[in-house]
Amino acid sequence: MNLEDKISKIGRNMKSSIIREILKFAADKDAISFGGGVPDPETFPRKELAEIAKEIIEKEYHYTLQYSTTEGDPVLKQQILKLLEKMYGITGLDEDNLVFTVGSQQALDLIGKLFLDDESYCVLDDPAYLGAINAFRQYLANFVVVPLEDDGMDLNVLERKLSEFDKNGKIKQVKFIYVVSNFHNPAGVTTSLEKRKALVEIAEKYDLFIVEDDPYGALRYEGETVDPIFKIGGPERVVLLNTFSKVLAPGLRIGMVAGSKEFIRKIVQAKQSADLCSPAITHRLAARYLERYDLLEQLEPTIELYRRKRTVMLNALEEYFSDIPGVKWVKSEGGLFIWLTLPEGFDTWEMFEYAKRKKVFYVPGRVFKVYDEPSPSMRLSFCLPPDEKIVEGIKRLKEVVLEYGKEKGLL
Ligand SMILES: *Cc1c(COP(=O)(O)O)cnc(C)c1O
Repeated sequence: MNLEDKISKIGRNMKSSIIREILKFAADKDAISFGGGVPDPETFPRKELAEIAKEIIEKEYHYTLQYSTTEGDPVLKQQILKLLEKMYGITGLDEDNLVFTVGSQQALDLIGKLFLDDESYCVLDDPAYLGAINAFRQYLANFVVVPLEDDGMDLNVLERKLSEFDKNGKIKQVKFIYVVSNFHNPAGVTTSLEKRKALVEIAEKYDLFIVEDDPYGALRYEGETVDPIFKIGGPERVVLLNTFSKVLAPGLRIGMVAGSKEFIRKIVQAKQSADLCSPAITHRLAARYLERYDLLEQLEPTIELYRRKRTVMLNALEEYFSDIPGVKWVKSEGGLFIWLTLPEGFDTWEMFEYAKRKKVFYVPGRVFKVYDEPSPSMRLSFCLPPDEKIVEGIKRLKEVVLEYGKEKGLL
């Protein structure tokens, strides 16, 4: 049988993640990988979770081992409402403003399914989060691509592009703007308060909604918390995606969407045909954990650890890269990544072959391009390698850059 012949239009549009392919090389024990975007397993509260898991299976099995509602655990919803208020001062929501998903990734997929098709557009930044590019692209969507600056999207470009759609009578085909507001993956930047306010104004002017994806907000190492776009624009204009993947444990696969009741009802409908309901067992596990422990307090040692590793990487970059003219990197105030941009002409995708020989790995910027194009940038994650490996890795990376740059006549 020819399986390829039978694949649907949407099925033909799916690709497996290039990052996963790249990370295969990093399994070598001499390799130093800045590739993975995953948290350090030592930060997972495994003893606490193990204890609660035993309890909720033995004592709450009627709930935890049973089918649950599509929306998810009401006990967890109460905890989330408290957390949103504590972290961001978000109030005025109730249970019907929330739905849980299997990680934020499912929320991205369901939003794609509900709003995008081959006649639709959504606004993505350049570079953009790969999980969002893939989720939206599979529904055959088209993209309005807007460059990312040090304080968020270039709003002049956004405004110019949207006004063109408006002039051509096509603005209704543009559905939403996707934004990673804090410590962007991959670019590390945080959208400034001014730009958050301006984004809401633009969304109102052109009648679009904003999807604010905020997995890293609680992982701030310096500076002040900025109000979420969701708080500025309100649930009628903005949906907020959040997840326990970066602050508790990705294995729980708990993501959540906060939005207007109408929006949430739509997501619930779409989710019903995707998976009936999320696992009650991980929901209740997270709920009881949040009841018993203060998540933000528990996160303090994790923040301390990542803050230190980030400083180690920034210092190493200062030491090894500051003598290359035209190199720059983003000093992200939180999250897991540093975005390093080499001088014009460098292609970090092509340079990856050189990096393989020196056994140092990064994610080439090309991966985060909405349309496949060369990029002089790369994403470096500091959270997994021990301090001395971070320094050694940056030193190797410098050798890679010198070798590639000289061979290509760029340095
Ligand atoms: C890690 C990450 C997510 C989280 O995905 P999950 O499916 O919840 O594990 C979502 N958005 C961005 C930008 C991320 O970096």
